[in-house]
Order: sequence, then structure tokens, then C-alpha cells
Amino acid sequence: MSDEFKNLKKKLLTAKKNGYDRVSDADRGAMEEYCAGYMAFLNRCKTERLCAAEAIRMAEEKGYKPYARGRGVSPGDKLYVCNRGKSVTLFHIGKRPLSDGIMLAAAHIDSPRLDLKPTPLYEESELAFFKTHYYGGIRKYQWVTIPLELRGVVAMKDGRTIPVNIGAEPGDPKLVITDLLPHLGQEQAKKPLATAIPAETLNLLVGSRPVGDEDDKGRVKLAVMKLLNEKYGITEDDFNSAELEAVPASPACEIGLDRSMIGAYGHDDRVCAYAVFKALLDLSETPEKTAVCMLADKEEIGSEGVTGMRSAAFDAALEDLCAAQGVALRECREKSFCLSADVTAAFDPDYADVFDKRNAAFLNYGVGLCKYTGARGKSGASDADAETVAFARRVFDEAGVVWQIAELGKVDAGGGGTVAAYMAQRNITTLDAGVPVLSMHAPFETVAKLDCYQMYKGAAALYRAAFA
Ligand code: MN
Ligand code: MN
Repeated sequence: MSDEFKNLKKKLLTAKKNGYDRVSDADRGAMEEYCAGYMAFLNRCKTERLCAAEAIRMAEEKGYKPYARGRGVSPGDKLYVCNRGKSVTLFHIGKRPLSDGIMLAAAHIDSPRLDLKPTPLYEESELAFFKTHYYGGIRKYQWVTIPLELRGVVAMKDGRTIPVNIGAEPGDPKLVITDLLPHLGQEQAKKPLATAIPAETLNLLVGSRPVGDEDDKGRVKLAVMKLLNEKYGITEDDFNSAELEAVPASPACEIGLDRSMIGAYGHDDRVCAYAVFKALLDLSETPEKTAVCMLADKEEIGSEGVTGMRSAAFDAALEDLCAAQGVALRECREKSFCLSADVTAAFDPDYADVFDKRNAAFLNYGVGLCKYTGARGKSGASDADAETVAFARRVFDEAGVVWQIAELGKVDAGGGGTVAAYMAQRNITTLDAGVPVLSMHAPFETVAKLDCYQMYKGAAALYRAAFA
């Protein structure tokens, strides 16, 4: 190869590099420390409510205070607004007024799971079960024969909200959904994956020991209800006003002989939520523009509901702060930037045919910038403009963030959305970016430590950046 060719190639063509060829030794140390913190967060935060509570606890430790409407705000103030215990927005008030816009990162803290139905408990063939209704896009066959725990709340008519935790403490019993043995699975094995496990068979096995006398009916169900009543003071009717979520019981762990990856439930999207949240908490100086971290609920079912990103709750919080500075909300929004921090699909060599290898995100290549998400002809995407992508390129490059640009799989293979579209609808300039994930939406997803830490670095750089 002539020098001229080499130089020309270096000058003109993309040179994608593995993140391990780009990060410093110091960064590797910081990455390990960061990832240990992330894994601990994951183990404490298996539901959106637990994430919100933990985020508030951590934020208060760093001096964040709940914001009350009508109060004045000054540069350097650290404030948060919690929406119904399931979504939190945190503000680090900047030196410049809110009329100059905010630097926002939004991630979601809900993950695919199995919710209990409103009338869940039943007995069949002297076994007790909870009926479930899956939440988000799951591949149903992945949720059988794994240990599950039950987390959530029962809201009582008297106004009390009782937290439920079955299976999370050491020594706790777990719950499970059974599956057919292969010896008798010949007919089931012929069915397509999507239909082999019908949703109505996703029933949690919760008991087998009867109470009462042998001629009594429903003895196992009653025994389970008795245990629940003893522990939580609830009766069967109270399930009507409960939010109980069956989630994988296994803790996060390192993956690979080299410990380079993390396996866990809920990387989508806690891997980004933790990154943008931690980066905000770690902001040591008052930022130029107000830095905001939004931890949203309900993304997995389309950002619907009063705690989802389509809800006006976010606007209400931002409008309150704007009002405190005498700024119109619309003025703030049109000068704001939002990083829609959500995971993307990592290239999986075992399923190479669903990816366009030239436009896929790879493990260890850093934050995946996505100009657009969506399905088919970009349906449901916010499709950031070129100038916005250029802004992010500049900010990430200047901060030494390892990043890559990617699409979520082949055009006709499927697709997905994020909260980006709902931020863009608010007249906020928005760009998708996130950590590449293997086995996304599975009960046990895998990410690379390097990408987790680069997401944190990327968020930190954005909070400090000057957009517009
Ligand atoms: Mn997501
Ligand atoms: Mn998802």
C-alpha cells in the first residue's frame, strides 16, 4: 500500500474502532467502578416505582429537593418533581435563564414484565396460580421456567398503599411459570414461537399446600390467600386495586470470562436511565443551561398514561419552573435539546440476517446514535434533522465519548419507537441515543460495560454543552 493511498484513506474514509482501542486505562478503571454502581442500582430497582424511589433517595443525598409550585428558583438549585411515584424529573438550574432552553436527557424506567390480572388468584387441580397479563413486547416463551419475584403495591380503600415484595430477599421463595416437558411437547414444538406459549398459560405457580379438611374445596387457594393476609393484611378483593409485577428474580451479574459485559433484567432502559441520572447527580458545577433528567414510565406500552411521556405532567413541571423565572414554556421548549436515551439493538452474529451490518450498533463501539427509530418507512420516528446529529457528533467528539451511529435492524425486519417522538412533538429538538443491547426485552439482557460507561460520559457532556 503506497503512503499516498494510506493517507488518502485515512483522510477520507471512516475508521471504525473498537472502544477498547480508544479508551484510556483511567477510563477503564472508572468504567468498572461505574458499572458496579449500576449493577447495585439494577438489583434495587426492578420496577418503575422502585426506580423512582431509589432515584429520589440518591438525588436527595446529593442535595436535590422536591420542587413546590410557586417557589422561586436560582442558578445552582437542585430540584426534582415526582409524578405519582412512577416517574421523576430532576433539574439542576443553570446560569442562563430558562428562556435559553434546557439540556434534557429522557430515559424510561419501566421494563417488559408480567403484571397480575385484577382477579389473579385461582386454584386448579389443587395447585394455586396467579393469572398474568404481559406488559410490553415480550417473547412469551422466554418467561417460563425461570425464577420470578413479585414486586409492586396494593392500594387499599382506606388510602394506604402497601408495598409487596415476594422473592427479593435472601431466603425468600420465588414464583415460576411451568412449561411442557419435551417428552410430551411434540405438538407444541411444531407451533411458531409467537403462538407456542399462549398468554393465558403465563400463570404463576404460587402454592400447593392445602388447608382445612380433605372434603373442603379450594383449599390451596385459601392457604395462599391466608399467607398474603398474614403478611400484608389484604383480602382477595384488594387485588382489584393492585399493581403487582412478576419480574425476573436473578440479580445482575458479570458476563464473559473477561467480565466485560453485564447480564441482567431491565437494561432496557435502566442502563440509559442510570447513565443520564448519574451524570446529572455528578454535575459538580452549575451548568450553563438548566440540565434536566426525565425518568419516564410507560414507554414499553407506547408512553401512554398519566405517568408516560405523552402526559402533560412533564410540561406542568417545566412550566412551573419557567413561571418562576417569568419565562413562557413555549420559549423554553423551542430552544431546548433532548437526548432520548434509550437502548438500541446490538448486532448479534447468531442472527446476522436481521441486521444491516453497515448500519448496525456493535457491542463495545460505544453510545449508539440513532437519527431515527420507527418501523417500515420511519413510521413513528422523530427523525432528527442533520444539524441535530452534527451537534451531537461535535459534543461527543470534543468530550472523547466513544460513539457509533446505527439503525435498529434491517428496514423490513421490524422496528420500534422511543419517547423521542413525544419530546419532538413538544417542539424540543430531540435525538435518540442509547446503549446497544443483546437479547433486548428478554428476562435477561446483555450489555457491554464499555458502552454503559460511554453512555454516562455522553450524558455528562451533553448537560454541559451549549445548544443554540
Ligand atoms: Mn426502551
Ligand atoms: Mn423496550
